[in-house]
Amino acid sequence: VLILAIESSCDETAAAVVKNGRTVLSSVINSQIDIHTLYGGVVPEIASRKHIENINPVIELALKQADVTLDDITAIGVTYGPGLVGALLVGVAEAKAIAFAKKKPLVGVHHIEGHISANYIEHPDLEPPFAALVVSGGHTHLVMVKDYGTYEIIGRTRDDAAGEAFDKVARAVGLGYPGGPKVDKLAKEGNPHAIEFPRAHVDDAPYDFSFSGIKSAVLNYINSCEMKQIEINKADLVASFQNAVVEALVSRAIRLTEEMHIKKLAIAGGVASNSALRAALTRECDSHGIQFYSPSPILCTDNAAMIGAAAYYEYMRGTRHGYDLNAVPNLKLGER
Ligand code: ATP
Ligand code: MG
Ligand code: FE
Repeated sequence: VLILAIESSCDETAAAVVKNGRTVLSSVINSQIDIHTLYGGVVPEIASRKHIENINPVIELALKQADVTLDDITAIGVTYGPGLVGALLVGVAEAKAIAFAKKKPLVGVHHIEGHISANYIEHPDLEPPFAALVVSGGHTHLVMVKDYGTYEIIGRTRDDAAGEAFDKVARAVGLGYPGGPKVDKLAKEGNPHAIEFPRAHVDDAPYDFSFSGIKSAVLNYINSCEMKQIEINKADLVASFQNAVVEALVSRAIRLTEEMHIKKLAIAGGVASNSALRAALTRECDSHGIQFYSPSPILCTDNAAMIGAAAYYEYMRGTRHGYDLNAVPNLKLGER
């Protein structure tokens, strides 16, 4: 089964050809990051316009690199939510057009299902059930992957997503956008125990996250230093912030695997490429006898290969969408 997958939920225009859900024949990512960096964040109108310009060349390149034509493709997979509505619509309209013109089945995919499925690509042994920690620009979820396409959200953030917190702190410290990778890099030069930031927990919800408290504590720290005219050690500051976030993520993920007696944990989403998070999870999973799975950094951020992996398993369980498929900006995981 060959899936042509399309992803355009945010600021990456991506297409991929994926065989049987696990083998990537091609994966093309056109990132608009340089344009949006000028504005300090993603500008939705610009993202939509760039997707329209890029989508056909990106798909053509993906087919060419995989050495296949549209006739060889079994089905078209596409992200239809969540994300920016104007951005999603470009991918959805394109997928519908190809599916209609070539009489191919159309399979809509949830973007976060894609992030989780990125793990299938490099880990042929990974099969459900397993626990997944989803940490991206817009989501922070602890999920039980009960079967292919069957998810139960056990915990979620009550306020900011982990990636959002990284981006906001980076901006406050003057590192620019996108903040995650820059915080990650600078934190390597700092002392993670220099400043004690709160480890926010949510009462009666042991698996939920809250990052706005940590973020506010960082902003307050910066303000008070400026008022007292104390020079800020930026490396110590971001290392301490990162440490607080990583601890919150790791402690809940490990607790979930223990309580559910599940021996497999996967991470997913842009923040999953954070080096401190990967190191901490590698260490903790090892000492708890848990098998730890993580995608390569290139498969953590938005790409279409992960959508191809997810679409394959949706295709196999019979998911088909009609030509009335629409973009759903607030689509919930597990909904269809
Ligand atoms: P979502 O997937 O929730 O719809 P998104 O697609 O915008 O949101 P992703 O592309 O999955 O998000 O991830 C982008 C986020 O990952 C950004 O917030 C970015 O700062 C963060 N990020 C990327 N690399 C790192 C890193 N090394 N450390 C921490 N955060 C990182
Ligand atoms: Mg992006
Ligand atoms: Fe994403």
